[in-house]
Amino acid sequence: MSLPACPKCGSEYTYEDGAMFVCPECAHEWPQQAAAVADEAARVWRDAHGNVLVDGDSVTLIKDLKLKGSSTVIKVGTKVRNIRLIDGDHDIDCKIDGIGAMQLKTEFVKKA
Ligand SMILES: [Zn+2]
Repeated sequence: MSLPACPKCGSEYTYEDGAMFVCPECAHEWPQQAAAVADEAARVWRDAHGNVLVDGDSVTLIKDLKLKGSSTVIKVGTKVRNIRLIDGDHDIDCKIDGIGAMQLKTEFVKKA
């Protein structure tokens, strides 16, 4: 059986530790079960125009977004640096200058 490459850093030196895979290079650990599923689905995040997004990208908002539970509106064109892609309804984890940590949807951003 061949071991999957580390989903975080791409290292091929992955080893098994019980029910987990472990990457010796970045210390990332993940369950073997999930890895098999993720491998098949190999999720790709895309912005509103279909460009592939990766961790650390900068994006700009393509529409005004109202911040839940407040009157703050994040304006279209706001630049968001160093995004982190996550699984979920809101699939971008990021920090916006002057607002703080929040989550966005890839469909409302474009790659900067
Ligand atoms: Zn790694």
